[in-house]
Amino acid sequence: MQKDELLRKVIKKKTRFVVITGGVCSSLGKGVLVSSIGVLLKNSGYSVSVVKWDPYLNVDPGTMSPLVHGEVFVTDDGAETDLDLGHYERFLNIHLDKTSSVSSGQIFKEILDGEREGKYLGKDIQFVPHVVDAIKNRLLNFAIDKNVDFVLVEIGGTVGDMEGIAFLEAVRQLKMDLADRQLMLCHLSLVPFLSWANELKTKPTQHSVILLKKAGLMPDSLFLRSDRKVGEKSKEKLSIMCGVHKDLIFESLTWEPVYKLFLDLQQQDVNKRIQNWFSIKKSKKADLSKWKKLIKKIEKEKEKITIGLIAKYVGSNDPYLSVIKALESACYANGYDVDIQVIDAQKIEKENLKKGTDIYEQVKKLQGLIIPGGFDKRGIVGKILAAKYARENKIPYLGLCLGMQVMLIEYAQSVLKITDASSTEFNKSTKNPIISLLEEQAEIVKKGGTMRLGKFPCTIIPETLAYKAYKKKEVWERHRHRYEFNNAYKKTFEKSGVVFSGIYKKKDLVEISELKNHPFMLGCQFHPEFLSTPLKPHPLFNEFIRAILAKKS
Ligand code: GLN
Repeated sequence: MQKDELLRKVIKKKTRFVVITGGVCSSLGKGVLVSSIGVLLKNSGYSVSVVKWDPYLNVDPGTMSPLVHGEVFVTDDGAETDLDLGHYERFLNIHLDKTSSVSSGQIFKEILDGEREGKYLGKDIQFVPHVVDAIKNRLLNFAIDKNVDFVLVEIGGTVGDMEGIAFLEAVRQLKMDLADRQLMLCHLSLVPFLSWANELKTKPTQHSVILLKKAGLMPDSLFLRSDRKVGEKSKEKLSIMCGVHKDLIFESLTWEPVYKLFLDLQQQDVNKRIQNWFSIKKSKKADLSKWKKLIKKIEKEKEKITIGLIAKYVGSNDPYLSVIKALESACYANGYDVDIQVIDAQKIEKENLKKGTDIYEQVKKLQGLIIPGGFDKRGIVGKILAAKYARENKIPYLGLCLGMQVMLIEYAQSVLKITDASSTEFNKSTKNPIISLLEEQAEIVKKGGTMRLGKFPCTIIPETLAYKAYKKKEVWERHRHRYEFNNAYKKTFEKSGVVFSGIYKKKDLVEISELKNHPFMLGCQFHPEFLSTPLKPHPLFNEFIRAILAKKS
């Protein structure tokens, strides 16, 4: 469809767009704010979907280090996306797809592929109109496809970043192209407190609004990120200096638990004022009762469970964001708090998990162990030692993707006495490739987007731990891996007490493994954490926590 026709359709549909930019610095919680506005709108009865625009040049974050970019979140259709999509899905209880994640890399690729195909014969390709049109067209197509009342758009990065210019220009043009009051621009900016001056400062926000104005954009609303109340005086000042009506200047404070932000935004009438801005006269109020209940549960004084996350990417929790969120939700649902200790697998390896070492003392106190996903050899020996510890000491263990592979390698080495058992990912020439590549993967040389990605069905075998957790014969789970359990070893494992309790029937692939003589030692080849939400924790995480509690009592 041509741009004009797309525009006509979207104007006719009256889709409303809320675009959120960030100012001053990163890590202000744009993703959380976007999701929170979404929660208010959704719980008021509107249909909502979300798009993230990422200005970086990678096609997707799939090939970036989790320490640089945080977790790679995977959608049902197998897109490798920014972790903010996880926030959107968890808060809004919706499933997004690849069209919700747009990067500059994708836009340039689309244009350059088109150029090679001859789409632009005779023309020179320019930022305006070609690059900006490609961005606009994707958003308009998204609005038509999703057919929702509100499309929320988060622009990654900070206003003023060189990479973000094309996206800001797309917003500037869409403001002209669409009907009046069809696109609202909200700007989230920092209001820091200077302890030595005992004052909150509005100047950084003023400057970041100047940067927006330089890009031809006037914000319709400001969200002020601060860890203390901003107050009327500062809002008045910002209203005058930035040209934003005071009624549309809100605070976005630091809340614990973060879900309290919904209540605070509702208290500030954000929901009503956004609806009014869009000329919805009879604004609707959000029903936040389920969230209120959850907050009450979280805030209640309760006992803590200590869980070890045996990690490879240490220094920030972002690489394991969904795992941490899934663990927290499952603990709260069972009436407990959680203390998640992120333990460096390489430290375990270095100290060989020997009795008397500091690391042994730390591991000894854990009530449950999680081995999350990961790639490459680094930290593997430490993870195997941790799995051995959990198996021998009957500590509940949940292995996620790599965590299942580690669990089976450890079992093969220690119990089946296949001492050189390994994955061909870590040891290409092993004589016992317990974990290996399928033929279809062996031929792949390109790295981006070529793993087994997205949702696949998994048949659950009755009378297993997995069945106890799911209470269903078939489930769909999201994958992101290249290697699989090697079926040549299946019988040997089964004879010795390993149960393969989840199978992808079509290709006869092992999806879930568990040990018989253990309270809960279960690994899955997929990533259940991507489908866990605060209001509905994932069954496998739930069962893992229950096993810890059963052992405790
Ligand atoms: N590296 C392993 C594989 O590719 C596991 C991947 C993961 O944990 N996501 O199969």
